[in-house]
Amino acid sequence: MVDLAALLRTTFGFEGFRGVQRQVVDRVLAGANTLAVMPTGAGKSLCYQLPALAMPGTCIVISPLIALMHDQLRAAEAVGIRAATLTSVDTNQAETRARFRSGDLDLLYVAPERASSEGFRRLLGEGRLSLFAIDEAHCVSEWGHDFRPDYRLLKPLMDAHPDVPRLALTATADAHTRADILTQLGIPDDGLIVAGFDRPNIRYAITPKANTARQIAALIAETPGPGIVYAQTRSGAEKLAGQLAATGRPTRAYHAGLDPAVRARNQADFVASEDMVIVATVAFGMGIDKPDVRFVAHAGIPKSIEAYYQETGRAGRDGDPSVAHMFWGAEDFARARARLNEVDEARLAGERARLDALAGLVETPGCRRAVLLRHFGEDPPETCGNCDNCLNAPGVIDATETARKLLSAVYRTGQS
Ligand code: ADP
Ligand code: MG
Repeated sequence: MVDLAALLRTTFGFEGFRGVQRQVVDRVLAGANTLAVMPTGAGKSLCYQLPALAMPGTCIVISPLIALMHDQLRAAEAVGIRAATLTSVDTNQAETRARFRSGDLDLLYVAPERASSEGFRRLLGEGRLSLFAIDEAHCVSEWGHDFRPDYRLLKPLMDAHPDVPRLALTATADAHTRADILTQLGIPDDGLIVAGFDRPNIRYAITPKANTARQIAALIAETPGPGIVYAQTRSGAEKLAGQLAATGRPTRAYHAGLDPAVRARNQADFVASEDMVIVATVAFGMGIDKPDVRFVAHAGIPKSIEAYYQETGRAGRDGDPSVAHMFWGAEDFARARARLNEVDEARLAGERARLDALAGLVETPGCRRAVLLRHFGEDPPETCGNCDNCLNAPGVIDATETARKLLSAVYRTGQS
């Protein structure tokens, strides 16, 4: 039996498991099919990487984005895992296939399109498999926010290897999507493991737009440290970046319309900075691991609660107090509802439910965190004490008002 703790320490340099990692890894090693729902940053990769090292054979990792795959490949190779990618942009495919056949790979990252290729199906029979890991597993569901039809081909592919365990991983599955993932990937209901989604150090606030640029400038003024502002469009990001530059904080724009070199430089500068504000479209943030982001602002509504959770989740990864502040307008919802007309029949119910859930979060007079956590299937307390609605609840206003008066009295005394 492999010493998991030793493997964790020597290979990954981690002192111990985090959250549900141990539970997930144990199930995988026992050969059970599993769906792990864990928030971004919780450490999903380890849940398949560690078993891949502990078990003989190759772990096939399905991942939807080639760019992310190559990031993960570099990270895996950096800790000495034998890994490769098999994608349309790889020129060393023959070599990778040979390595798989000879048992020289712990991890093989492939795009879901491969699942439908006859050649790949044959290849799987020519080597030894340890595990199927399906990353971003919500892509298999039409209920999910990012349906990828090719994910539907994974089950037949895996069914051909009934003795190889399956581990599906996602950060963003509501109850409907989860049930669908279990069915679509052939995982039993009792194979579901959900990690805690609460991010207690993030203070949530949601405010109607008045003058968005001025509102966000005020947020910047009272929040030192790096921050991300999400704009709805490229031109919106450019304009807002220009307006926010007046705050005196270094400010950059980031969106897919920028020259790739400029975009890469802005991202690198932001990651290195201790006070920069980056005004971005949602193209920004994936794959970025910056622990000290102190605020995330939304100038307009995000696409869904899942998107909101993921985008705001880039704040405060270091555990220090951080702010997530959304500024919304009725016109945002009007535009989103108008867009529903273009959605095809199969996805309409899901899209409508997603928008309604988001409206529920925006309009609630109650605890924001409770709405968020319930959305992710948790059963939170009624109040969190760290969102705008909890902090502005009647009893609390009195307390903060009193504290404020006291403080200003102290301040005046100190001045005189
Ligand atoms: P996810 O895919 O869930 O968003 P990742 O697998 O990319 O998360 O991991 C996020 C970060 O957490 C990485 O920097 C990883 O090295 C780190 N990490 C994962 N597991 C542990 C652990 N047990 N102890 C310390 N750090 C960990
Ligand atoms: Mg991941």
